[in-house]
Amino acid sequence: MQPDTARLRELDRSVLWHPFTQQQGWSEEDAPIIAHARGTTLHDTDGNTYIDGVSSLWCTVHGHRHPSIDAAVRRQLDQVAHTTMLGLSHPAAIELGAKLVDLAPPGLQRVFYSDSGSTAVEVALKMAYQWWAQQGEWWRTRFVSLKHAYHGDTIGSVSVGGIDLFHGCYRPLLFESVQAEPGDLASMEALLRDGGEEVGAVIVEPLVQGAAGILVHPEGFLRGVRELCDRYGVLLICDEVAVGFGRTGTMFACEQEDVSPDFLCLAKGLTGGYLPLAATLTTERVYEGFLGAFEELRTFFHGHTYTGNPLACAAALATLEVFERERTLEHLRGKIALLGELLDRHVAPLPAVAEIRRRGFMVGIELGGFPLEARLGHQVTLAARRRGAIVRPLGDTIVLMPPLSIEARDLRRLVEITADAIAEATGAGALAEAA
Ligand SMILES: *Cc1c(COP(=O)(O)O)cnc(C)c1O
Repeated sequence: MQPDTARLRELDRSVLWHPFTQQQGWSEEDAPIIAHARGTTLHDTDGNTYIDGVSSLWCTVHGHRHPSIDAAVRRQLDQVAHTTMLGLSHPAAIELGAKLVDLAPPGLQRVFYSDSGSTAVEVALKMAYQWWAQQGEWWRTRFVSLKHAYHGDTIGSVSVGGIDLFHGCYRPLLFESVQAEPGDLASMEALLRDGGEEVGAVIVEPLVQGAAGILVHPEGFLRGVRELCDRYGVLLICDEVAVGFGRTGTMFACEQEDVSPDFLCLAKGLTGGYLPLAATLTTERVYEGFLGAFEELRTFFHGHTYTGNPLACAAALATLEVFERERTLEHLRGKIALLGELLDRHVAPLPAVAEIRRRGFMVGIELGGFPLEARLGHQVTLAARRRGAIVRPLGDTIVLMPPLSIEARDLRRLVEITADAIAEATGAGALAEAA
């Protein structure tokens, strides 16, 4: 270990508190300290290299240090790093807004910026409620969401969350939401029928519920949800924070079922994984519900300090340009097919693998029947790391979500390393040791 790593690690242990991390185990583990990266390779302070198997938590799109995105951020840095969207505007936010409206499903014509997936969802929930209230139907305080849903970590987004491990503790603090069975339109319809006039909106992650463990919905489910929302006269919020920007094979997941939601929430891949930025897109109908003389108090009183940050908007514009110039989605098709073949060949035959769920470049490998305290998913992560790949599990589901730019050679290595890591961590010897 290099001296710098030892000092940093000690400092990390004495001052930091990591997200979604049980700190009690953290100090016994020598987690890599990432110093720099290029393409799909991460380098740590000891000189080890790793394939970025989860796109630095589902957001890197065209790889790290992409020359065009780097250059765009530098150019913006020479203009201004931050200026507010409250009462002012700036070129990058305007250009990006126009681009997003162009790309989004038809009807989404207004762009409201914020900083994270959680805030993109908060904005949609608050807009939906306030829109109804300003239509005179202030009693529509209830949201319909899906079981196992994940929409972020702020109190509003947790209120529509459905993962007990993450959300259960906070129930007493949350507003009301009722949860339908994923993939089951009848259960959704029952909630809309029984909820009657109290339901304002339905919120779903289209096609794939990411944090639930890459739960893939049956074909037609999303379209069915849209039809139910129309029939019962409620708004539809599509949270594409995870599935947006190519992850499922198309720019947005909604496209695959020809669905236009009333709200589209975007974050993670929006800046190519460079900077925190989010956008909530909505329709002219919703937008108009907020217009009026100031004293009517129909303003949307919401806005974060760094909303629409120029550096982040510049990174997002460059990210969208790279999609076009490098024909990213076209090249992705072959990689999606290859990923499927590799998983069939190397991972599916392993006895510990109960199920592989996949849509496009989002993969969940569920390991079957291991006790919570064995922390099998975590053991696989450690074994993969020793072999040169970074993956992060959701419980005992190993997630693979490489950057769209990954080359065939690295994709092959990533799947092989994952298979070897699963075999090592679930081998008879390893399990006896864990027990
Ligand atoms: C990650 C995620 C969020 C939250 O985004 P943050 O930027 O972490 O706040 C919301 N919704 C979905 C579907 C996500 O995967």
